[in-house]
Amino acid sequence: MFNCVLWEYFNIMNNLRALMRPNIRDLKPYSTARDEYQGDVGTYLDANENPFDSGYNRYPDPYQKELKEALSAIKSVEARRIFAGNGSDEAIDLVFRVFCVPGVDNVVSMSPTYGMYKVAAEINDVRMREVPLLPGFRLDAGAMLAACDANTKAIFLCSPNNPTGNALEREAIERILREFQGITVIDEAYADFYDGDSFLARLGEYPNLIVLQTLSKAWGMAGLRLGLAFADPVIIDTFTRVKYPYNINVATQRIVLEKLREGVARQVQDIISQRDALLVSLDELEVVKEVYPSDSNFLLVRFDDPRAVYDMLIDRGIIVRDRSQVPLCEGCLRITVGTEQENRKLLDILNSIK
Ligand SMILES: *Cc1c(COP(=O)(O)O)cnc(C)c1O
Repeated sequence: MFNCVLWEYFNIMNNLRALMRPNIRDLKPYSTARDEYQGDVGTYLDANENPFDSGYNRYPDPYQKELKEALSAIKSVEARRIFAGNGSDEAIDLVFRVFCVPGVDNVVSMSPTYGMYKVAAEINDVRMREVPLLPGFRLDAGAMLAACDANTKAIFLCSPNNPTGNALEREAIERILREFQGITVIDEAYADFYDGDSFLARLGEYPNLIVLQTLSKAWGMAGLRLGLAFADPVIIDTFTRVKYPYNINVATQRIVLEKLREGVARQVQDIISQRDALLVSLDELEVVKEVYPSDSNFLLVRFDDPRAVYDMLIDRGIIVRDRSQVPLCEGCLRITVGTEQENRKLLDILNSIK
């Protein structure tokens, strides 16, 4: 039994390593002062820091141990399966830097979706093949798989999806997880607003799955920059070797720990009920052509003349996101759910448009 488990681990490790860029597989990371001595108490004369205590004079923990333990308890995922990045964007960039050979490999994504995957692909000189969503913004698993070739290293999924707001069907995601041999990334930035299950529970089953989450949305910490990747320890170890050693600063680690203890369950519940009420109210307005169902904290809303509505809202001090030029989102503005007063103000203005 023991040997069997070991053998399986060996296979997973080799398969994951085979997907990685050759220069990354055996990369020896920068060794920090804290790597060379790990004790807690002592007189630190090893890192050329200023010795006078300001609360910020010491380098942060490069492995964010305390933070990961707190996140592990909240997410029910082992700490060794957690990577903390300077926003999700760092984890997205690492997928390219770790797995994709510039100018050679490609990735597959859906359209429309979050714009950072494409930007990160371009920065890393990796082609992105985009597969349109089906009517109802549903995932076309067959077309995604058909778009892959021998150089496709990753498929990017976003569920609930930005800017469409809906969660993708489980069965379509599962089909990609079962049939695609490369890395499947599922970006769950809006998971806290969705009442379906996260794919975090499936990490043990799929070693090539990376789930992204963030503290920028439901957790209310966009300004602190903390994004998370959850994956097999082989992937997490590699991300950790490739990242900047001190990617999460002292202030962020400290404040995030406090906020994680406080929790945001009530705010999230409030935002969800505001979202559901706003959807109904928007749907009743004459100027609104369609409001799409949402599993997130924003609504995609279609208008006959989105630009006029956008400008009118700006004039009255409300800023929304114009998504009307995005394929399949023609005529649409993306509206974040605000406080009750903010949503009321939005409705009043829209209601006055004839
Ligand atoms: C907002 C958002 C993120 C968050 O990015 P951070 O860098 O963590 O702030 C990630 N993915 C999607 C789809 C988003 O909409």
